[in-house]
Amino acid sequence: MSITISGMTKRFDRTEVLQGIDLDVADGELVALLGPSGSGKTTLLKIIAGLEWPDSGRLQVAGQDWLQLAARDRRIGFVFQHYALFPHMSVRDNIAFGLEVMPRGQRPSRAQIAAKVDELMAFLQIDQLADRYPAQLSGGQRQRVALGRALAIQPRVLLLDEPFGALDAAIRRDLRRWLRGVHEATGSTTIFVTHDQEEAFELADRVVVMGAGRIEQIGHADDIHDHPASPFVARFMGATV
Ligand code: ADP
Repeated sequence: MSITISGMTKRFDRTEVLQGIDLDVADGELVALLGPSGSGKTTLLKIIAGLEWPDSGRLQVAGQDWLQLAARDRRIGFVFQHYALFPHMSVRDNIAFGLEVMPRGQRPSRAQIAAKVDELMAFLQIDQLADRYPAQLSGGQRQRVALGRALAIQPRVLLLDEPFGALDAAIRRDLRRWLRGVHEATGSTTIFVTHDQEEAFELADRVVVMGAGRIEQIGHADDIHDHPASPFVARFMGATV
């Protein structure tokens, strides 16, 4: 599903956290929002998810006005840095959860849910973890399960907020490769938030550099690296290389 954001602003108290965001994401694209802490990345993601409302601007998904849609009708898949899996549920039940709570009429049958979860676990290479509980998993395994849970509902848009932020460098690299493969196979329109340049450039089709509530530059990794559009981007790139 394509996403079109135009003229979006958001203020918390006296701070204008989003100062007029215009962004188009193509159907099936993986875009990284890259920027320092406090630049407004998470706020933008929350607005797309329906967890925050903008003060002005438009948000369309596949041509539909999403600001009119309740959060639960948006069919968003989410993974956060500290994504809480349900501790008392097995991996299998965590992944099935989004399907179990679908409204009557849309909810698949019990057998269909079981088949869907099996298929997804095999695809994500977590089938050997099916009967474990979150406390028995490593951080990297938990984030794979969290992605499984997000994908189970066949989201229209997948939002990932620093999903690997709490993990160490080697595991992050493995997960990046894995996520890239998953993205290529599912083709879900995905927005990935990170403050890590290497992560953004390795994963994304295009990178959106944000600073203090504005988009400073949108482009492919090489363009941004070789031709930073503003002193802010040049400094940010230099600072985090
Ligand atoms: P990022 O994800 O780039 O780190 P955020 O979108 O989380 O940035 O935050 C942008 C700014 O908005 C920060 O200054 C943050 O303190 C502020 N902010 C975020 N959420 C709230 C809130 N619910 N109430 C007040 N200020 C907030």
